[in-house]
Amino acid sequence: MYDIAQIRADFPILSRQVYGKPLVYLDNSATTQKPRAVVEAITNEYYSVNANVHRGVHFLSQQATELHEASRETVRRFIHARSANEIVFTRGTTESINLIASTFTEACMKEGDEVMVSVMEHHSNIVPWQLAAARKGIVLKVIPMDDQGVLDMEAYRKLFTPRTMLVSVAHVSNTLGTVNPVREMVAIAHSRGVPVLVDGAQSISHIPIDVQALDADFFVFSSHKVYGPTGVGVLYGKEKWLDRLPPYQGGGEMIQTVSFERTTFNELPFKFEAGTPDYIGTHGLAKALDYVSAIGMDEIAAYERELTTYATGRLNAIPGIRLFGEAPGKSCVFSFLVGNIHHLDMGTLLDRLGIAVRTGHHCAQPLMQRLGIEGTVRASFALYNTKEEVDALAAGIERVRRMF
Ligand code: PMP
Repeated sequence: MYDIAQIRADFPILSRQVYGKPLVYLDNSATTQKPRAVVEAITNEYYSVNANVHRGVHFLSQQATELHEASRETVRRFIHARSANEIVFTRGTTESINLIASTFTEACMKEGDEVMVSVMEHHSNIVPWQLAAARKGIVLKVIPMDDQGVLDMEAYRKLFTPRTMLVSVAHVSNTLGTVNPVREMVAIAHSRGVPVLVDGAQSISHIPIDVQALDADFFVFSSHKVYGPTGVGVLYGKEKWLDRLPPYQGGGEMIQTVSFERTTFNELPFKFEAGTPDYIGTHGLAKALDYVSAIGMDEIAAYERELTTYATGRLNAIPGIRLFGEAPGKSCVFSFLVGNIHHLDMGTLLDRLGIAVRTGHHCAQPLMQRLGIEGTVRASFALYNTKEEVDALAAGIERVRRMF
C-alpha cells in the first residue's frame, strides 16, 4: 500500500505556501526535497556525535567513523555493489565524473584515443571529457538519437573503433526522461573490451539499481537527487578499475605514509577520498536511502509510472503543446513548449500559481541544439507528487496559454 498522505507528511516543505498558494514542487530533477528523517539525522549528529572521522582514538571520533562507514555499507547494499571498497564518497555526480575523466584518461588513454558519450548528456558528462581532451588530445564521439529521444543503437555499435577506451552515458536523461538501455549498452561495449560509466544522477531515485546486474564499470550519483543532503555523492567503481587508477586529489586520508622522498597511498576506497569527508552528509544520505528502501524502490517506480502515464495524457491534451522526449518507458520528467510562449514566461507565470518548474537548457545545450530549440519548460516528478498536482500543472499551463 503506497501511503501518499504519509509520504507527503514526511516532507515538511511540501505543506508550505508560496504567494499564498499551496506549493506544487515539480523541480525534482534539479533537486529533491528532504524527509524529516534525513534532516533530523543530520541535526542529531551535529548535536551529539560530531567529531572528525578515522583519526581519533576518542569516543566521539569512533562513533562518527562507525556512522560514516555504516553509511558506505548502506550505499553498497542500495546499489548492490560487491564490496564497500568500491564505494567512493565524493561531492556529487559532477565530481565523480571529473574524478574518472581525470584519472582514467591519465592511466588508460593516450592521444587520439576516444571516449563516447550521448547527445542527451548533462554538461557534467561532457565538459570533464572536453577538459581531458584538451589536455591529452582525446577525441569525443557522440551517440545520436531519434526524434522521440531514443538513442540510435545501430549508430552506437558503429561508433566503436580500436581507439574507443570508454563509454560514458546517462542512465536517464534529465531533460527527455529517456531511460537508456544501459545494460545492453554495457554488454555491447564489453564485447569490444570497453568499460562503461553510467551517470545515475537521474535514475537513482526512480529505478532500483543493481550495478552488478548492469555490469557497469562505474556508476555515479548525487545524494541530493535521492532525498539526501547536498554536497555528497558516490562513485561506484569495480575494484579492478579503481585499483588501476591513480589518486585524484592529494591530502589527508588518502595516504599510507608520507615523506619528502616518497609517499604511498591508502587502500580502496580511501585512496580517492582526500581530506575530511562530509561524514555528516554521508550519514544523511544513508538515512535517505533507508527512507526510500522502507517504501520500496519497486513500489516507488510503479507509483511514478502511473503518475507518468497520467501526466502524459493530461499534458498531451493541451492544445499547442510540444513534448520533448517520448521514448517508451520514459521517466517522470516532462520537457515542453506551448505555442510560441517563451519558456521563461511560462515558468514565471506558473511560479506565480505556486508551481515550481525549471526553464532553460537544463545543462544540456548540445541536446537543445539537436532539438533546434533554446530551452524548454521542465516539470519533473518525485515519489511525493500526486495526480492532483499534475492537474494543477495542466490547469496552470492552460491558464497561461489563454493569457497569451
Ligand atoms: N548528470 C545528470 C544526468 C544530471 O541530471 C545532473 C544534475 N542535474 C548531473 C549530472 C550533475 O549532478 P550534480 O550537480 O549533483 O553534480
